[in-house]
Amino acid sequence: MLPLVQWLWPREAAMTRLLGQFVRAESPSYDKAAVDRFGRIVAAEWKRRGARVTLVRQRERGDHVRAEWNPPRNRARGQILVLGHLDTVYGLGTLARMPFRLARGRAYGPGAFDMKGGLVIALFAVDALAAACRIPEKRIVFLWTSDEEIGSGTSRTLIESVARRSDAVLVLEPAAGLDGRVKTARKGVGEIEIIATGRAAHAGLNPEDGINAIEEIALQIARVSRWNQPSRGITVNAGLMEGGTRTNVIPENARVLVDVRAVRAGDMGALERKFRALRPILRGAKLQIRGGFNRPPMERRSSAALYAKARALAKEMGFTLGEAYVGGGSDGNFTAALGVPTLDGLGAVGEGAHSPNENIVIRALPERAALLATLLATI
Ligand SMILES: [Zn+2]
Repeated sequence: MLPLVQWLWPREAAMTRLLGQFVRAESPSYDKAAVDRFGRIVAAEWKRRGARVTLVRQRERGDHVRAEWNPPRNRARGQILVLGHLDTVYGLGTLARMPFRLARGRAYGPGAFDMKGGLVIALFAVDALAAACRIPEKRIVFLWTSDEEIGSGTSRTLIESVARRSDAVLVLEPAAGLDGRVKTARKGVGEIEIIATGRAAHAGLNPEDGINAIEEIALQIARVSRWNQPSRGITVNAGLMEGGTRTNVIPENARVLVDVRAVRAGDMGALERKFRALRPILRGAKLQIRGGFNRPPMERRSSAALYAKARALAKEMGFTLGEAYVGGGSDGNFTAALGVPTLDGLGAVGEGAHSPNENIVIRALPERAALLATLLATI
């Protein structure tokens, strides 16, 4: 175990340099040209390492990059999928006010933590394995997708089909906390829209003829908010609403978008059914319910064995690897739901994802790469 991490320690500066290159290639999910540009940079790095690289072309979103690393002499017995994403939540031009910079042991910049740091870790993990002639038994497929931050609409089927043929999935999303915990459970996530239709009328002349859609939505929000059960891991959050036209008009239309999350798959279905069963409260109002859960939960049992293994390997390398249960979803939710062992949060250590302060801990880069490399070599 030791040689891998020892080989990686002196590569901290090289890893940081590559991270700088990656962060400077902005890649907002909605900008195909930009994501494609960044995808080509990542693809070139993999080709240089002898991986077989395929671009999975997309019309609207960026192309996905699939890199298969199957070292010579290796008669693969099984397959490991390593998952990550190319896209970030930051619009083009963010770099101007949030440049890539190093300060006090941290590297800052849009997407440094979520999750370009993870992409760098994967490349150096493979470098370390090659340098140490540690050839994994399994074929390793790295899948870098282009639309994780916007729900993985074009990548989900691809992820699931590769995952089905894999014995394990390792996800390079950011670690939890500055102690670098991996993520062993994630909530299922969904979005439900409640649309109310009332009847417009003059608020002063004939209010009795009106049906107030905003009031209907308000009453529905009060109702669904009672479905929150934090102790059971169920959250319901009315996060965005709109309605009405003018103050002197009884509003005919209003709607609310509700974020829903649950730990258990069963609770997800039950919650969706409760939403679908909503009926209007005001006489004459109409309701329409759209949407639902789009990411199943990642339940801890799909991570338990991989986590135990990673924890033991980390211990041999001299550090403690903790675990975290988080409310946010990732592509690991899809693979875990298929019953494929999945371990998430193996990427960079840092903080401030999706914020102007996003940064990673530089010193942790070699250690994380060593952990990933060791997992690849021993799973
Ligand atoms: Zn991410």
